[in-house]
Amino acid sequence: MLTRTDAVIVGGGHNALVAAAYLARAGRTVTVLERLGATGGAAVSTRPFTGVDARLSRYSYLVSLLPKKIVRDLDLDFAVRPRTVSSYTPTVRDGRATGLLVGGGADRTRASFARLTGTDRAYEAWNRFYATTRHAAERIFPTLTEPLPTRKELRTRVADAAAWRLLFDEPIGVGIEEHFSDDLVRGVVLTDALIGTFADAHDPGLAQNRCFLMLLERLPRLKDTSVDPREAFAGTFHVAEGYGQLATAHAEAAAGSLPSAPPSEIYCHSLTDPTILGPDLAARGYQTLTLFGLHTPARLFTEDNDTARAALLKATLAQLDHHLAEPLEDCLAEDAEGRPCIEAKTPLDLERELRLPGGNIFHRELSFPYAQEGTGRWGVETAHANVLLCGAGAVRGGGVSGVPGHNAAMAVLGR
Ligand SMILES: Cc1cc2nc3c(=O)[nH]c(=O)nc-3n(C[C@H](O)[C@H](O)[C@H](O)COP(=O)(O)OP(=O)(O)OC[C@H]3O[C@@H](n4cnc5c(N)ncnc54)[C@H](O)[C@@H]3O)c2cc1C
Repeated sequence: MLTRTDAVIVGGGHNALVAAAYLARAGRTVTVLERLGATGGAAVSTRPFTGVDARLSRYSYLVSLLPKKIVRDLDLDFAVRPRTVSSYTPTVRDGRATGLLVGGGADRTRASFARLTGTDRAYEAWNRFYATTRHAAERIFPTLTEPLPTRKELRTRVADAAAWRLLFDEPIGVGIEEHFSDDLVRGVVLTDALIGTFADAHDPGLAQNRCFLMLLERLPRLKDTSVDPREAFAGTFHVAEGYGQLATAHAEAAAGSLPSAPPSEIYCHSLTDPTILGPDLAARGYQTLTLFGLHTPARLFTEDNDTARAALLKATLAQLDHHLAEPLEDCLAEDAEGRPCIEAKTPLDLERELRLPGGNIFHRELSFPYAQEGTGRWGVETAHANVLLCGAGAVRGGGVSGVPGHNAAMAVLGR
């Protein structure tokens, strides 16, 4: 039976739901069509292991982009839990296991930089670099839920020539190399820019990744005994993400091979939010790990997805084990049927299960948040007047933000 509806939304990801909620609150009738049995897209929690009461976010890890305005406008009952540590990156220097801890207070971070690099210079450069990006972000972020500014208007809003050059004019590698000399520090900064993107520091490219979920009976001990595992895993745990290692992995993947030392970052959500574990598992000290890998474009999996997935999992865990005082395998929990609680997904798996094109977590290449030819007033317009983008593929889409959903609804309501 055909019913009349003001808007049809294809796909029920969180952005679609934001668009639908804005339209419905404005009195429009909306139909959402979702091919899966549940809505939420790549922003959903699930119990992936048979008979195990651990509820993990299968795909998205961190929410930092959802504007308070959307939470307020839609009366959402939504809270974020901050992490106590931003990141930890283990390494070996002069044969000694060490690492860089960012978090736990300014003094702890300064001491970690000094221990790794021998001076305070890198810590001071870090503060300068992130003060610049924070200044720009504070000015740009409010524009994301407004009509698209022109490049000139955005530049005026940013009002900081150095920040503009760093973020909009030059490849990020230029700024990173200007600010930092330590390879590991450079790598940690570069990963902030690279997340979800298959690119060299000096080069634009495609965005495709793989991800693994794991349930552990306990957190593994580290070779670097100066950091407690509960601290090291509380933030983003970087593996094989030195600046040089990232460049090598990119070059190997660009040449058609899986990276020999796959770079990845690991999140332990149960340290930030223990309620994702059932009370029994929490009491027994179980923890979850979610691993997100870079520089593995979909084309590396097309010949034999299963073999490539297994090879990549093995190589990735070997890189992690390099920094652990006990192999991760010894800490893995088992499901109700005695299988290790580990789930691995390649870009092709993401495409098959979620329809992410080529496994691209942002649906397509990200673009700058200002108007360019053909972007329309809200960055959601297409060549067809009545067809708008309300998901990650819109200008200013990408990530768990609700922003393109908001903007598509505004484009409809403004007509
Ligand atoms: C492993 C991974 C980690 C990530 N980590 C983060 C993170 O930490 N922080 C962050 O901000 N972002 C992260 N992202 C990115 C973020 O999840 C996405 O950008 C975001 O989910 C996009 O939301 P969306 O609503 O636009 O689309 P999606 O979440 O992709 O949802 C699209 C929906 O449309 C449905 N669909 C597709 N085609 C059709 C069709 N033809 N008919 C009907 N339904 C259809 C799909 O089934 C899906 O439910 C991550 C993504 C992945 C995969």
